[in-house]
Amino acid sequence: MTNLPLVDLMGQYKKIEQEIDHAVLDVIKSGAYINGPEVKAFAEDLQNYLDVKHVIPCANGTDALQIAMMALGLKPGDEVITPSFTYIATAEVIALLGLKAVFVDVNIDTYNIDPSEVRKAITDKTKAIVPVHLYGQCAEMEELLAISKEFNIPLVEDTAQAIGSDYTFSNGKVQKAGTIGAVGTTSFFPSKNLGCFGDGGAMFTNDDELASKLRMIANHGQSKRYYHDLIGCNSRLDSIQAAILRIKLRHLDAYSEARRKAAHHYSSEFQKIEGILPPYEASYSSHGYHQYTMRLHGIDRTALQDYLTEHGIPSNIYYPVPVHKQKGFEGKFEQVGTLPNTMQLTEEVLSLPMHTEMDDKTLNYITNSIKEFVEA
Ligand SMILES: *Cc1c(COP(=O)(O)O)cnc(C)c1O
Repeated sequence: MTNLPLVDLMGQYKKIEQEIDHAVLDVIKSGAYINGPEVKAFAEDLQNYLDVKHVIPCANGTDALQIAMMALGLKPGDEVITPSFTYIATAEVIALLGLKAVFVDVNIDTYNIDPSEVRKAITDKTKAIVPVHLYGQCAEMEELLAISKEFNIPLVEDTAQAIGSDYTFSNGKVQKAGTIGAVGTTSFFPSKNLGCFGDGGAMFTNDDELASKLRMIANHGQSKRYYHDLIGCNSRLDSIQAAILRIKLRHLDAYSEARRKAAHHYSSEFQKIEGILPPYEASYSSHGYHQYTMRLHGIDRTALQDYLTEHGIPSNIYYPVPVHKQKGFEGKFEQVGTLPNTMQLTEEVLSLPMHTEMDDKTLNYITNSIKEFVEA
C-alpha cells in the first residue's frame, strides 16, 4: 500500500468539485472579495446551523480567541483558567494580551478540562475560563456553566476541534458546542472539521452587546467607518473562503458521521488489543472525531510509530509537549498542582489517520498493521 494521508482534503474536494469551483468563480467574477455578500450569507447559515444569535467571522481561530478575550474586557494581570493539554493557540493569546494563564489538569478519560480542578483554581483575579473541546468532544459544560454562574466568570469555548458537536444537559436540552458559554470560537483551517481552502475563523454568541463588541474589535474597533471607539485589530474572513464554507457546511453532519463511522471501526478492533485504550465517548457529548486519539499502555509508542511509518501509515502526537512545559511559556503562567493527567497523556496518546474519506480497506489495513506490531 502506498503512503496513506493523515487527512484527505483532496478526496473530499473531488466529491463537491463542481459546486466549489462555481462558487469560487462566482466570487472572483463578482469583484466583492472582502466582506462580500457570501460572508454575510455564511454567517447566517452558520447561525441557523448552530442555533445561535450571532456568528462573527474572522481571519482564523487564534484571532477568534484573542478577540473574544478583548471583547470581555480582560486586562493585564487578569487570570484565565485553561488546560495545558491543548493546542498552543488557546494559551498563546492569553499570554499575548498580558493575561495570566492558570493551567489546570484534564480528565484522563475525556482529555478535557476537569471542572473540579477549575474550582480549585478560582481566585479574585479569575476573569475567564477557557475550556477546549479537544479532538471533537465537548468538555463537561453543565458543570463548567454552573461554576461560571456561581462565580460570575465568563466561559470562552475553544470550539476549533468540535464544530457541530452536540452537548446534552441532564434535563435533555441539547446545544451545539460553542454556543453554551459567553462566547464560542472556532477555526476553519483546512484540516478542521469545517475547513476552508485557506485560513478562517469565527466567534459565536447569544449576547447582543458582546456581539457588537466582537464585530467592532475584528474591524479596527469601528462600527462607523473611520470612527474608532475601541482598540481593535484587522481580522476578516474573505469572500472566497466564505463561499467554500457555505457549501461545506451543508455536508458537515455527513462529514461528522463519516468520521464517527471510521472511529468506531478503529475502536471495535482496538478493544480486542491489550494495551490500547480507544477514545472514551462521554454520554453528554457527541464526538466529532477531529482526531482519533487513543492511549497506549505498555506499548512502545516510538517503535509503533516507526513501524507504522514503514508501512506507509502516518500517525501523530497531539500534543508532545503540554503548554506549561513549553520554553516560551517559562515564568508566564501559574498551574494548579503538577497536572499529572496532562503529563501522562502527553506520554500515552497517539493519533491515527482520520478524515471523511476513510474506507474499510484502509481502516483494516491500519488496524491489522497495529495488531501485527503488538502481537509480534
Ligand atoms: C486549530 C486550533 C486553534 C487555532 O486555529 P487557527 O485557525 O489555526 O488559528 C485554536 N485552538 C485549537 C484547540 C485548535 O485546534
